[in-house]
Amino acid sequence: MRLFDGDKLVLASHNAGKLREIGALLAPFGVEVISAGDLGFDEPEETEDTFAGNARIKAHYAAQKSGLPALSDDSGIMVDALDGAPGVYTADWAETANGRDFPMAMEKVWNLLDAKNAPSPRVARFCCTFCLAWPDGHDEVFEGTVEGHLEWPMRGDLGFGFDPIFVPNGETQTFAEMDPSKKHAMSHRSDAFSKFVKGPFSGRA
Ligand code: IMP
Repeated sequence: MRLFDGDKLVLASHNAGKLREIGALLAPFGVEVISAGDLGFDEPEETEDTFAGNARIKAHYAAQKSGLPALSDDSGIMVDALDGAPGVYTADWAETANGRDFPMAMEKVWNLLDAKNAPSPRVARFCCTFCLAWPDGHDEVFEGTVEGHLEWPMRGDLGFGFDPIFVPNGETQTFAEMDPSKKHAMSHRSDAFSKFVKGPFSGRA
């Protein structure tokens, strides 16, 4: 495991929300986070069929262009009875001519499960992968998951994406009904992030 010994890293994302969230998480470690969007980088095509593959593409691209270590993430939901779909294509399933429509994407998933007569519980997991890449080509990858099942109809208006139909194991509320701090404590993103800070950032802060 290579340690991160710099004071600056590039976040390989154009998402202002992610920059804020990851910037705040890394602040205690004395790390300044700069976004690839602010540096004027374009976004590479995500051509791999795994979360780790696409996270690697994004992190290496930003590390090569900036000459600094770069951190990326890739996430989505995998449904067992759909052989892991939508998986890395989760955001694509919501794409319409007028932007992303997640209620439509959730309905599509549920209808596919009904068409297959998939038994209950309809097991699913959220996955999140972080990749930290250095300009010399080295990288470290951290994978997080949260296991659960899907329920219909959608419930709750907190959160985003597929949260309204996902109930994590041991809970009765969907992620969209849950207090955000409770979701964040158990989410795939916090699982991956805690592995990340225990790796390259161990010994700091
Ligand atoms: P990306 O990692 O920004 O490409 O996003 C992948 C997609 O997965 C998002 O657009 C969401 O639909 C879905 N997703 C990832 N994490 C979550 C989550 O915590 N809740 C709900 N949906 C999520």
